[in-house]
Amino acid sequence: MNAQRTLRRSISCAGIGLHSGKKVTLSLKPAGANTGIRFRRADLGGLEVPATVDHVGGINYATGLTRDAVQIDTVEHLLSALVSLGIDNVIVELNSPEVPIMDGSAAPFVYLIHEAGVKIQQGKRQYLKVLRPIVMARGDKRIAIYPSDHFKVTYSIAYEHPLLRHQSRTIRLSAEVFTDEIAPARTFTFLKEVEQLRQRGLALGGSLENAIVVGDTGVLNHALRYDDEFVRHKILDVIGDMALVGHPVIGHLVAHRGGHALHTAFAAQVLEERDAWTLVDGIPAPEHTAEGAMAPAKDSI
Ligand SMILES: [Zn+2]
Repeated sequence: MNAQRTLRRSISCAGIGLHSGKKVTLSLKPAGANTGIRFRRADLGGLEVPATVDHVGGINYATGLTRDAVQIDTVEHLLSALVSLGIDNVIVELNSPEVPIMDGSAAPFVYLIHEAGVKIQQGKRQYLKVLRPIVMARGDKRIAIYPSDHFKVTYSIAYEHPLLRHQSRTIRLSAEVFTDEIAPARTFTFLKEVEQLRQRGLALGGSLENAIVVGDTGVLNHALRYDDEFVRHKILDVIGDMALVGHPVIGHLVAHRGGHALHTAFAAQVLEERDAWTLVDGIPAPEHTAEGAMAPAKDSI
């Protein structure tokens, strides 16, 4: 996992934007080493926006990117799938401003990436390894990252609702764990908020096909995919928002009651606290391997 990776071939899907309600075609295209993840608007002559914290703009219940007059909305679920499956370089082409919501989860994007296949590239992947804690709090919302040998996420949520008063989960991320335990978790909203969102011109594409809708006594959808699908989706979201630091992260991310505004502000803060992390080529080998490697000096072989 220490070389950069892209897709083996291009692949497309069609859907609608959750907030805009607009039809959109999304294509994932292979890109050269060190390209990173870039969004491209085919309907605007191919103008591009890199998926980095420098370009965050237009946060409204979803994470948006903007550069000059180009806007890309609701990038977080796709970014979450791309980074979790180890795709470093890709062009995401859209013919409308919003990434399709699909079923409200990242599972359709995982499927697309698997169908396209993965290609190993020349060029080392650089991980952002956390060296000391970075903490951000806003009211009762909190997010922090701590040193760890792996990328782990702990998320806890609390709402004044009997169904999801409190949920908490810790996940040690790998492509397999993400695919099985996080990617299928769908976005959720409260029934009483839906009308307010629509009056503000949001959630126009929302339906029971692409979001869990929570009523006063239970969910309006047929069934949940996990008992704690809500907190799993928050983990999905924060992975996608943290992808905007531009490197896979080695550290333990801990969040309580966050949202996209807090997640993306934190991603920017992490990059600002330059003494709190270092870039490393690949995941450091376990200590016994390092000792073993020291035994014979290279020029003595
Ligand atoms: Zn989400």
